[in-house]
Amino acid sequence: MSGPIYITKPFLPPLEEYTDYLRKIWDSGILTNAGPYHEEFEARLAEHLGVEHVSLVCNATVGLIIALQALRLQGEVITTPYTFIATAHSLLWTNNIPVFVDIDPLTLNLDPAQIEAAITDHTRAILPVHCYGKPCAVEAIQEIADNYNLRVIYDAAHAFGVRHRGDSVLKWGDLSVLSFHATKVFNTFEGGAIVCADAKTKRRIDKLRNFGFVGETMVAASGINGKMSEVSAAMGLLQLKYASSVRDRRQAIDARYRKAFEGLDGVECLSLDEHTWHNHAYFPIFVGDGTGDQRDALHRELKRIDVHARRYFYPIIPDFQIYKKFGAAGGHPLHMARRRANQVLCLPIYPDLSESDQDAIIAIVRKGR
Ligand SMILES: *Cc1c(COP(=O)(O)O)cnc(C)c1O
Repeated sequence: MSGPIYITKPFLPPLEEYTDYLRKIWDSGILTNAGPYHEEFEARLAEHLGVEHVSLVCNATVGLIIALQALRLQGEVITTPYTFIATAHSLLWTNNIPVFVDIDPLTLNLDPAQIEAAITDHTRAILPVHCYGKPCAVEAIQEIADNYNLRVIYDAAHAFGVRHRGDSVLKWGDLSVLSFHATKVFNTFEGGAIVCADAKTKRRIDKLRNFGFVGETMVAASGINGKMSEVSAAMGLLQLKYASSVRDRRQAIDARYRKAFEGLDGVECLSLDEHTWHNHAYFPIFVGDGTGDQRDALHRELKRIDVHARRYFYPIIPDFQIYKKFGAAGGHPLHMARRRANQVLCLPIYPDLSESDQDAIIAIVRKGR
């Protein structure tokens, strides 16, 4: 084993290519505020993703806050307990009330039947997550949203490049928010983007990410500083160039794990689905009976060989102290989310992972099972 192994290692393009960009930034003296690289990256990203409009932001958490503010949402928002804490935090930052409903244990995403059961007179929106980049039940969610006049914002932090039935999954819902954090499949050091379908919404988002300014002396709303800098935008432009080879490597690693764990008792992989063009952002496995014991034992065994797998996502959001008072719709026990949170272990997957290191990880997972 070649030093500690984490679940991801950011892909970095050749440094010489990045310094070419840096030199131009130094020459121009334009560091932020919709500079030339920002504008170029925004346009190229929309093209790459196959979507109408993209607004770059400084990170996905601020992106979610801006998205909620852009739609002027205020009330109950139905969301998933099985996610990263930022999903729920964005609701508290905008004075919305998170209402947690259970997930489908096979997709790890919100269960549409449970969404419908949780709708009240105060429900304004649904905030689902395409967990691990696996598309939500987008058709069913849209039908519910249309029937009850709700907005839909997708936390698409994991869903860079994902296509559903041949088209970008980011086209679903009112808005989708991507993360370009260093640990995600596509990174700009820190960063993110909001995807929307019409120019008017994009203009509103662009105002909100720049303090709410309209021109020099007018402010339309209590916006935030959500801008992406030129150094991040330049990184994004370079990353786009390598996105397809990065994805190929991830796919190969995914396939090797899948083959090694085929038919293995007590280890479940997340299924790939024929309608999806996957980005292979994560490789979660689900281990043991749901008490957490076998999963935690495997987590420790991997640590012994310096492999730091992660329990993404454990615990579920309503089990964090500050979220206890929100809880689940109708006091629902959230059995599925809780069970998966006690079984999950995300294994290392990134372009630089060597076959020998992957084999060592596979051997530990297979041992005793
Ligand atoms: C990483 C992540 C975020 C936050 O992204 P940042 O860019 O780090 O703010 C939000 N939601 C989910 C599901 C994530 O995994």
